[in-house]
Amino acid sequence: MSSIIQLLPDHVANQIAAGEVVQRPASVVKELLENAVDAKATDIKLILKDAGKSLIQVIDNGVGMSVTDSRLCFERHATSKIRQAEDLFSLHTKGFRGEALASIAAIAHVEMKTKQEQEELGIHIIIEGSKFVSQDPAVLPKGTSFAVKNLFFNIPARRNFLKSETVEQRHIVDEFQRVAMAHPNIHFTMYHNGSEMFNLPISNFRQRIVNIFSGKTNEKLVPVSEETEILNLQGFVGKPEFSKKNRGEQFFFVNNRFIKSGYLHHAVMAAYDGLLKDGAQPSYFLYLDVPPHTIDINIHPTKTEIKFDDEHALYAILRSSVKHSLGQFNVAPVLDFDRDPNLDTPYQYQNKEAEYPTIQVDSNYNPFADNSQNFSEQNGVKSSKSFSSSSNYRKSEISQPSWESLYVGLKQNTQEIAEMTFENDAVTSSLFEENDIEQEVKRTYQIHKKYIVSPIKSGMVIINQKRAHERVLYEEFLTNMTVKQASSQRLLFPLELYFSSNEMDLLRELQLSLENLGFIFDSITDESMVVSGLPITISESQASIVLDDLLTDLQDGIVSNSFSENDSIAKSMAKSLAVKTGTYLTEKEQENLVHNLFGCKEPNVSPFQKPTFITMSVEDLDKKFSL
Ligand code: ADP
Ligand code: MG
Repeated sequence: MSSIIQLLPDHVANQIAAGEVVQRPASVVKELLENAVDAKATDIKLILKDAGKSLIQVIDNGVGMSVTDSRLCFERHATSKIRQAEDLFSLHTKGFRGEALASIAAIAHVEMKTKQEQEELGIHIIIEGSKFVSQDPAVLPKGTSFAVKNLFFNIPARRNFLKSETVEQRHIVDEFQRVAMAHPNIHFTMYHNGSEMFNLPISNFRQRIVNIFSGKTNEKLVPVSEETEILNLQGFVGKPEFSKKNRGEQFFFVNNRFIKSGYLHHAVMAAYDGLLKDGAQPSYFLYLDVPPHTIDINIHPTKTEIKFDDEHALYAILRSSVKHSLGQFNVAPVLDFDRDPNLDTPYQYQNKEAEYPTIQVDSNYNPFADNSQNFSEQNGVKSSKSFSSSSNYRKSEISQPSWESLYVGLKQNTQEIAEMTFENDAVTSSLFEENDIEQEVKRTYQIHKKYIVSPIKSGMVIINQKRAHERVLYEEFLTNMTVKQASSQRLLFPLELYFSSNEMDLLRELQLSLENLGFIFDSITDESMVVSGLPITISESQASIVLDDLLTDLQDGIVSNSFSENDSIAKSMAKSLAVKTGTYLTEKEQENLVHNLFGCKEPNVSPFQKPTFITMSVEDLDKKFSL
């Protein structure tokens, strides 16, 4: 039989290797920026078109390449940075595998211009899908310009796999910020579709962080500094009262390289012990210098994870230095998490109560009383089946018309309800000898500040208050955004809210939907927004929390598999505003909630497809007692 094994041609091997190095435009940005830093540039420009899908260009004023090197750099395992395997362990540069340029050239159209300082002329190379197209001498400034066009042009599957421009751009901005934050001694600029997004002059670490994350950041930072034999630690941590809901402002740099480390994160969190509200995330920007031979960066292809020789010692040093800084800068006294949030709002609003959804209720009728037989047979039983296998839950299974007819029927038959109520009353009053009429007609009970129980003809219904409220708010928000514009409450004193420029971009994208919901924005700049009106359901003190939650949810992809942007927003806001487990509800609130829930189109599941209520029939109860 003839032999069948063949060596893969280089361009195929490169294309395969590229899959590991280049996941998305942001990976190219990272590699090119790091090469420019390694080339000792003091000025680096990043130019993008269409979130890198059409163009990613990095221009540096670094050392440039010789004619030979400018060809060689596109070979796989071509690197000037290591000579032998051991060099990996004493690395002071960013690159080390010599794979980036070969990979990028395999899956894009690349144009490189480079010139070394001492040379008269530079060289201009065009390479497409690993094939050299042209190579000419050219008059150029010192340094290197690397333009990557049409990324993944020869791998359509990968190109189609790219996310929306917003998402890809966010990844790019993340990479850009990480490199820029690690190198304040380099002037970085970033342009997207012709407009300047960042211009970061040469400065120090603190100023660089402030330039990236807005002027307000400065007052939030507390310096951290510690020198030991195994670790030199510098940087800043955020005052606890400025902590956020998301982890967007947490950075570790080890030997000037951004890394992720759950272990070190834990050390920092331990230093904040007792200073943070549940789930709050402090900002930190920590620069660790360790002897290169004590780390191994090469355990992850994208090089953001790292292994330390002496993790335990680093943990201890980190925790104690951060704790020390927090203590020294006396941040503790300003911590007062129990303070009345009303104090944050102008005095005119102090006495204003938080508003619940205000749908009028006819307190004389019981949503469960009429047609309850129908209710449990058609819906209760059916839905409890679909709850038991929620993955089988399908929209079509919910007989929406029957819900609506149930609802309509209720309104028409208040007489019957009154009768049923009367029956109940008789029992209650004889048991408890109460003659307070209000007490007698009570039809909902809150248990464990978590569930609302209500008798229905066939037995009882148990409602999960949080999920039920999520459903109610979700449908309300969705209707407001898609069908009609919601009404707003004008604020006497507009709120100024601060976000990172990344978050601002995202908010700008959502602006229209948010306005339909009832938000009124007076201005949106790169780092702050002025809000002069809010949806009626959102109180002033909730505004920034709701937006913060929304950004976190979108960034973390919690609501990302939604059908549309409106749907994502409605889900996130419903989640963030719904009454939580552990909240006491007055009778009126309980009734409102129950009533509103069953006025929903899909009352039996939360927006996240979790059951909102269960029913228990008298037979079920009887069975329990017959044991
Ligand atoms: P690595 O960075 O791991 O060495 P790369 O494929 O990223 O691998 O780059 C290959 C080589 O090309 C580098 O080692 C460096 O010598 C050269 N090079 C790449 N980019 C630049 C640049 N912007 N300026 C000067 N030399 C560069
Ligand atoms: Mg490199």
